[in-house]
Amino acid sequence: MRTPIIAGNWKMYKLHDEAVKTAVELKSLVSNAGHCEVVIAPVFTALKTVADRLEGSNVKVAAQNCAAEANHSAQTGEVCADMIMDVGCEYVIVGHSERRQFHGETDDSVNRKVKACLEYGLKAIVCVGEDLSQRESGREKEVVGGQLAGGLAGLTLADMERIIIAYEPVWAIGTGKTATPEQAQEMHAYIRRALSGSHSAECAAGTRILYGGSVKPDNIRELMDREDIDGALVGGASLEAATFSKIVNYR
Ligand code: PEP
Repeated sequence: MRTPIIAGNWKMYKLHDEAVKTAVELKSLVSNAGHCEVVIAPVFTALKTVADRLEGSNVKVAAQNCAAEANHSAQTGEVCADMIMDVGCEYVIVGHSERRQFHGETDDSVNRKVKACLEYGLKAIVCVGEDLSQRESGREKEVVGGQLAGGLAGLTLADMERIIIAYEPVWAIGTGKTATPEQAQEMHAYIRRALSGSHSAECAAGTRILYGGSVKPDNIRELMDREDIDGALVGGASLEAATFSKIVNYR
């Protein structure tokens, strides 16, 4: 009932031509992947060309961020949701931990960005996750619960149909240290219960919850075997088309 999503976050890597080359390579490597949605998130400067080159394929394009302000306005350096839609994107990654850590994003700004995405018909991949000290002090569910409540505040059931959650424990991002399938499943089940409480049981059952944090071709399968894991948000291992295609083709 929940179509899995395998999404690649290219972060601030790849010049324009390299991004296009990788996207085109990926397109042919995953053309038979009918079991899941495939999404890649290149840098802003490559979005338009990548989206054009992927048109008609089964690879969708995401932006890695968007402005909290929905309207065209005097916001130097920002890119708003309808500009992202305009160049052919379907998704936006919102509230990635690197944005929370290094760019001052808060649950409130995440919430405003999510609403801006929804206003323009984009789907938002909303990232949540605890850091190492929060997990070591046993506060991971409290932290993730708070991020969900803040980031999704005021969203209707109809809005939630365009929300994907990515659980990304900060201690697992780019560290090579993946959460065990048990740890990930436990948090995903917790997130689903939280969505049931904040929205409805039906909404919880239908929302895709991705895992992110050092996903690789050799650990995707055991993660995807878990009941509440509906896909992956992949950083480092999404940069090479051949490696990422192995994750996409996990079955
Ligand atoms: C990410 O950036 O969202 C991520 C999960 O990175 P990595 O796969 O490299 O840990």
